[in-house]
Amino acid sequence: AKVLVSGANGYVAIWVVQNLLSQGYTVRGTVRSAEKGEHLKKLFANFGDKHEVVVVNDITKEGAFDEAVKGVDAIEHTASPFHLKADDPDELIDPAVKGTFGILQSALKYGTSVKRIVVLSSTASIVRVTPEPKVFSEKDWNEQVIEIVREQGKSSPAVAKYRASKTLAEKAAWEFVEKHKGKISWDLVVLNPPFVYGPCLHSVSSPSALNTSLNDWYHTVLTPTRNGRDAKALLSNGSAWVDVRDLADAHRLAIEKSEAGGERIIISKGRFVWQDWIDAAKKIDPKVLSTLANPDVLKDDNDDVAANAERVYQIDYDTSKAKEIFGINYRTEKDSTTDMIAEFGKRGW
Ligand code: NDP
Repeated sequence: AKVLVSGANGYVAIWVVQNLLSQGYTVRGTVRSAEKGEHLKKLFANFGDKHEVVVVNDITKEGAFDEAVKGVDAIEHTASPFHLKADDPDELIDPAVKGTFGILQSALKYGTSVKRIVVLSSTASIVRVTPEPKVFSEKDWNEQVIEIVREQGKSSPAVAKYRASKTLAEKAAWEFVEKHKGKISWDLVVLNPPFVYGPCLHSVSSPSALNTSLNDWYHTVLTPTRNGRDAKALLSNGSAWVDVRDLADAHRLAIEKSEAGGERIIISKGRFVWQDWIDAAKKIDPKVLSTLANPDVLKDDNDDVAANAERVYQIDYDTSKAKEIFGINYRTEKDSTTDMIAEFGKRGW
């Protein structure tokens, strides 16, 4: 079977491509420029003509994906901005919503062989700020953030702009399916992961050029600044997470499992606060740690304080739906930390 993966050069997407290829699928990836496809071509050269890269330079343009959807059996839509530097919320909302709507529209018109479309959303479209700790499920929608961004516009918190883009894009996808049911040959699966960590395969020149989630992980766990978090923040600041390779598995399973059709599905290993990652990094094989440019960064004197302090977990997710449909055996903090650090060490960081 042939699968279209949008934004194929991204941190998450490149693992999705790798997963699909290694399981025998043929993959067509989209990137924004030929240059961005070069790394993919090199990385997957041994898959020969089972791997193809095409350029879709502006996903907000009407009909942008018209050619790309032709002849594929399934689509994995991952292309969407994830950064916290937008001034105008539309910098994020426009490509998120128009990209999602556009790929579905192209599939409706030209994707005659498409049977399933998987949209990579996020728990950003589920979680909202609550005074008390809360466990969220697929029934929750982040309506709150749409209000915030509507009211505050450019002065909304950076994270709210991103979350609004994901919520509005996911809503657009479900509305599209509702509106066109009866006319479409495919059904929709939405995956909602929280923060994604784990090793990177994509082309990145330096740690500060890493994608948003891994950037935060690297700078919090492996630099003395802890990315601006003090001891208290390390114990209370966190969320939930999943390893990028498990999320890639979920993307493939989302095509393969018929019962996933029509579902939004949270893909999460579990909750964390940042101190948990620092602890995990301290416990990995010293040989792996020693490959880092600055292996001493984990030798601080905060151990006893952290070990005895209370940790506050504000958010968690009900993962029973994913368990039932996909049955993924998630990688642990230790697995992911070891593999991330080994990869960073290999890159000389
Ligand atoms: P990356 O920044 O590594 O990848 C983003 C991908 O989307 C790239 O291919 C990028 O292309 C493309 N993209 C970004 N902005 C645009 C735009 N305006 N027009 C067209 N393409 C664009 O991030 P991730 O891999 O982390 O993110 C991928 C997806 O995963 C996103 O949908 C994100 O919301 C979702 N997600 C990520 C999580 C995480 O913790 N990483 C958590 C939950 C969801 P280019 O390289 O050309 O910029």
